[in-house]
Amino acid sequence: MYKGNIILISPPGGGKGTLAKQLKDKWGYTLITTGEILRVEKNSDSKIGKQIKNLIGKGNLVPDELINHIIQKEIPKTTEPFILDGFPRTVPQGEFLDKITDVGLVIYLEVTDKTIQERILERGKTSGREDDLSVDIIQRRIKQFKEETFPLINFYKAKKVLTYVDGEASIEEVFEMVENILRIWS
Ligand code: AMP
Repeated sequence: MYKGNIILISPPGGGKGTLAKQLKDKWGYTLITTGEILRVEKNSDSKIGKQIKNLIGKGNLVPDELINHIIQKEIPKTTEPFILDGFPRTVPQGEFLDKITDVGLVIYLEVTDKTIQERILERGKTSGREDDLSVDIIQRRIKQFKEETFPLINFYKAKKVLTYVDGEASIEEVFEMVENILRIWS
């Protein structure tokens, strides 16, 4: 199986969290999930928690410098290949990542806006996330993905590390497609 570092990119609700967990459970990859790290900070009394209180859960990205700082602390903790779930989300974050580690493979899960909204509203019934409950916030996250995160697709295409996966497929099918990619890339 593929031994390098992997980045997962998808619109919100595109399935990267589910895929990351499957890859961890079956193949033992270490996960670095920025949304989760930030939610833990938000619920704590930390300095970062206070800074991001009004950003997380409202559908806004946190500033690049803040998340870059967190990533710079997280990556050295891992000795094994890792999967980044939720980072980078802007081109400046991608440029920062290049300075601190190697990116071997980027998997982009493509999903339509309609599917994103349906999936997030469904997830909102059990996720306990305020940003999964409001159609307005979901629409803002979709817009933000297109404007801020999507440019990373060309950024990584130019580096010849990008692979596309049909995120509309079932959870099992997506996993199978990704496993095939990881076999080919290893
Ligand atoms: P997620 O769980 O990946 O949907 O992330 C939840 C929220 O955390 C996002 O809506 C952002 O507010 C924040 N977040 C997570 N990752 C990043 C990142 N790389 N850059 C900026 N904000 C982020």
